[in-house]
Amino acid sequence: MPQDDRYRCVLLFGPPGVGKGTQGGILANIPGFFHLSVGDVFRSIDIGSESGKQVYDYISRGELVPNELTMKIWKTAVDAYVALSWYKPREDLLILDGMPRNVEQVEVVKQYLEIYRVIYLECGDLEDMVHRIRRRAIRENRTDDANEDVIRRRFQLYEEVTAPVLEQYDQKIIHRINCNRSPAEVLRAILDCTIPVQNEHFHQNQ
Ligand code: ADP
Repeated sequence: MPQDDRYRCVLLFGPPGVGKGTQGGILANIPGFFHLSVGDVFRSIDIGSESGKQVYDYISRGELVPNELTMKIWKTAVDAYVALSWYKPREDLLILDGMPRNVEQVEVVKQYLEIYRVIYLECGDLEDMVHRIRRRAIRENRTDDANEDVIRRRFQLYEEVTAPVLEQYDQKIIHRINCNRSPAEVLRAILDCTIPVQNEHFHQNQ
């Protein structure tokens, strides 16, 4: 893909349970944004297919899906959304949630993404996040949210392999937001960061 055809995007970044999915779901309803969650893409794969079985196996143990499989599935999903015109790369700012999730993925996505901002949702207390995730398990029926060991494994992986992703980006594009506030306040902070990006890089259709 030529460099200037890269998808123009903002990353939603942060540990499990900080509310990336909640915020992404709200942003998805705003014209001019296209929200894509890698976790949602994985959860929508046919579990009977070969890739679906593999993905389910990794996710339910709290492990990351291997990079090659992740990229293949992600690219297939993006291509499909573009073909369906759900995502219009010339008009929509991509809000990408869940990728890159390790330093190797940072390298791979460079060919696909032009990243303007990294929105880092921070939440101080680990127990608070574990609690949030347990509530989500009941609401969304997620297998990876129901088991305490799996939840703790995901936090461990976040600390070990995902948090270092932040060091790979110019600190000037990282925007920290405290997620211990109401969803509306977090949303306002995210919009304060993303609206200027949209105004600068996209012609607005009024
Ligand atoms: P959370 O942010 O709560 O961990 P997600 O929906 O973002 O939830 O991800 C769910 C699971 O999907 C992860 O625990 C991991 O197994 C897998 N996953 C999501 N994104 C990636 C990625 N970029 N690379 C590898 N695995 C991923």
